[in-house]
Parts: sequence; C-alpha cells; structure tokens
Amino acid sequence: MHPLLRRPLSARAAAAAAALLLAAAPGAAQRTGPTLSVLQLNDVYRIDAVQNGQAGGLGRVVTLAHQAKAAGTETMVFHAGDAIAPSLESRYFGGLQMVAALNHLHAAAPLLFVPGNHEFDERRQGSFVAAVKASRFPWLAGNLALSTGDDAVDRALGRDTLLVTRGGLKVGVFTLTFIDSPRDWARADSAFVQDAERMIAALERRGAEVIVGLTHLDRATDREISRLRRRHPRFAWISGGHEHYRLSDPLSDSTALITKGQSNARGIWRVTLSRAGRRGMATAEAIAIDSTIAIDPGYQAQVADVWQARLLERVPFLNAVIGRSETMMDATEETVRNAESAWGNWLADQMRTAFPSIRTDAAVLNGGAMRVDDAFGDTLRWEHLARTFGFPTRVALVTLRGSEVKAMLENGVSGGQGEGRFLQLSGLKVAFDRSRPDGQRVLDVQVQRDSAWAPLAADGTYVVAVPDYLYGGGDRYTFAARAVAKVEPGPDLKLIAFDALSAAYARGQAIAPRVEGRLIDRTPRQGQP
Ligand SMILES: [Zn+2]
Repeated sequence: MHPLLRRPLSARAAAAAAALLLAAAPGAAQRTGPTLSVLQLNDVYRIDAVQNGQAGGLGRVVTLAHQAKAAGTETMVFHAGDAIAPSLESRYFGGLQMVAALNHLHAAAPLLFVPGNHEFDERRQGSFVAAVKASRFPWLAGNLALSTGDDAVDRALGRDTLLVTRGGLKVGVFTLTFIDSPRDWARADSAFVQDAERMIAALERRGAEVIVGLTHLDRATDREISRLRRRHPRFAWISGGHEHYRLSDPLSDSTALITKGQSNARGIWRVTLSRAGRRGMATAEAIAIDSTIAIDPGYQAQVADVWQARLLERVPFLNAVIGRSETMMDATEETVRNAESAWGNWLADQMRTAFPSIRTDAAVLNGGAMRVDDAFGDTLRWEHLARTFGFPTRVALVTLRGSEVKAMLENGVSGGQGEGRFLQLSGLKVAFDRSRPDGQRVLDVQVQRDSAWAPLAADGTYVVAVPDYLYGGGDRYTFAARAVAKVEPGPDLKLIAFDALSAAYARGQAIAPRVEGRLIDRTPRQGQP
C-alpha cells in the first residue's frame, strides 16, 4: 500500500503523486507504455455523504473522475458490489436511487459493476430486474445463473468477462459474486477459484495484457484467487467488496493485489494498471473521501437533491426530533462490526425491555443489523432510527446455559474483521483475542446480576434477548436448536427504541450511552493489518 497521497486536491497534485508512486513501486524501471487508472469503490448504500455530509458520498467521487479527465488521465470506475439494498431509500425506491447515482458517475467515467449479495436481498426479482434495466453501466457476474423471466436481463449478466482497451492497454476483467440464500431466480456457483481460472484463461486467449478480478467475495476467498497469479502473471489485481473497511494485500510475484474500500465511499482506491514485459502490474493508492473534495454540483442538483425530495415525500417525518443524546455515538460500520459502540450499547439495553414480564439477563445485537454507518449525538431524529434498521429487527428470547452463551460469543468474534455477526452487548462484559483460532477467542465473560458482575457459570441458566434474524439461524448462530425454552420473536427493536427515546424526551431527559468496557479487545497489536 502506498498511502502517499490521501487527499488529492488537484489534478496536478495527483499527477505528481502518481509519478512518485511509480518511482516507488518495485519493478518500476521496466514499466513502460500505457496505463489505465481505476477508481475502485464497493458497498455504497447511500447517494449522499455521511457524518453530517463530511465523509464519503458519490458526489465527491464524480469530482475525482472529472479531475482525472481534465488532467488527461484515462480513468474507469470499478464498483465491487452491494448497492441497491439495504437502505432506507431502497424500501421506497427499490434501489433505483442508487442506479441514478451510479449512472451519473458512469457519465463521468465508464463504470463496471458486479452485483453483491445484497443485490439479491429481495425474495422476488422485481427490484433486481428494474435496477439492471435502469442501469446505463454493465452488470457482470461470471458465476451467476439467472432466470428472472426477463431474457435481456438474464443475457446481460451472462456475460462473465469483458475486454476493454483504454489508454492503449488491453485490460481483461472477470467477475464473481455470492448469494446468501439461493433464490429461485438466481444462483451463484461457489467454485470460485476454478471459475476465476477459467475466465482468466479465456481473457489470456483474447489477448488481455492486464487481468483484473472484479469480485464481491469474502477476503479469504479473494486471497485464494489471488494466488492464481503464480500461473497467470498477467493477472494483477482483485478489485473486491463485501468487507466494509479499507484493506489491501500487496502485489507480489505469486499473488495479485487485493483492495477493498470503506463502506459508503468514505475511502476508495485509485489503482494504476500497466504491464511490465509479460506481467500485469497494479499500483494502489488509498484516497480518503472527505470534505476537502467538493461534491459535484451537477450530481448534487440532479441526483442528491432530487432523491432527497422524493424521500421526504414518502417520509415527511424523516427529520422529526425524537430524542436527545448527551454523548456522541459512533455507529459507523467499522465500529459496530469490530468494537463496542455507544449506540449499540443503548440499543442492546433496550432489547432487554422487550418483554417486561420476563427478567432478561443479557442481550446481543449483531453489528450487521445496524446499517446507519454514521456517528451522531445531540439531536436524534427519526432518520437515525430509520437508517439504523435496514431490516425489521424483532426481539426474541432464548434460555441458554452458560456454555451456550460462551459459544454464542465465540461466534461473534470468529472469522475476519468487519463481519456482520460481531455482537454489541448488554448485561455482558467480554474480553477476546482475535489472533487465536476461531472458537478459542473469548478469554473472559462477566455477567451482570443485579448490580454486581460475576463470571459466566458454564452450567448456569441465562435468558438472553436476541434479534429474530439470529434466532432463525442467521450469521451461523444456532439458538433455536440450543434453546431450553423460547419465546417467539416479539416487538420490533426500532419501535422499542422510539418509545424509549421519545418518552425520555418528553420528560426533558437525554440518553447518555458510553463505550464502557463491555467489549475488551485483547488482540496483540501488529504493524500494518
Ligand atoms: Zn456484501
């Protein structure tokens, strides 16, 4: 990774930095000939910026694309999936607001899109088909079989690879995605590495000089695919998605570069493709998308303002004040999927009030259920709640033995960083170490009994509030099978939270949740992740 230039303010500065990067890159001496610059983003659910307009936003990416064009740099945009759902707007517009935003970006620089798993959230195919048809940019997925009933859509996504000649460079792109729960209108093959190699070989035969995988897969799978560079030296880069935080694995002789951007375009990548002899080359530069980059005025007027007005028509109470918080609450995806969040703490606390007649010892809320991807405090508006819950989150109760509570917490810290199964907690204090193997990462669990804390008793019995999604087996939780006794999912957490916030507000009170040591990360700190 070469984070030499995080905020390219001008095309001239960007060109200067690009020169520096080339000079710094290994093998730069042999690099001659044409290059292609690609802006890579993924997992963008919002048409506007976040954090009071200070972070992210496609309107700023449009500006970068215009700047590159003005500087004479051949630029494309690769979008590595997850766009049309979930979001507040998607409930009303089925993702067409994101298509409008991406069409605008596509007009500034040609865009390629691989659908991510969230493109298949809807059980029926209506939103998907409408989104593909409204898109002026291509949707591609090389391991997808569609039977949507619309031949044009099925055929369009049947195109698995693309050869583009830009700036005199022949760039071959192959595409891969996955689907959480198979739909009767869409299936994704999961032999990802074989599929990748088949497409790479096809692109080699067609004369691609640099080969890129545009994928929406988890990091571990991308890493397996990246090792195909050993046999296919023109394969240089995986432009990936799905994880919501910025990450990269470097290009080497035996592995392709892997990059993934931050959700909602807070952080994207600029990757420069070239060739060195018979090898494909890729150099990555991280770009923070923040208020130092102007929002394109055309985008603001034609996309952001238009859809904001449409949203206010559907939800006129969007900006209604429903409560107040004395503390700033960080509910960005980077936080809620990796660490304790004050908003997560407060919501988990509310879950324990869902069934007032039943004493509830603890509650857990998966980070993936919290979609607001923002930090906020002081005035709380309906929008904060509506954006937090992309899905209905009904609360269920399970009675678990201590050993089962431990297993549940282990699942929460299993796998890689940034996973939706990571748990926000109430009534529990958990210390964990992510450097240990899955299933052995939880070091200590304390449970609140009345006002005192006590170690979790393996043979004790605990009543735990959980979201219905986890109760039903989502994110590899298995409560239903483990429950000694259970209560069917009850009220929606969004409404419980609304009730608590508005009641406090009516009394002239503010909430004041804090990060207070419910989740203690004891993972030894290494250098660069
Ligand atoms: Zn995803």
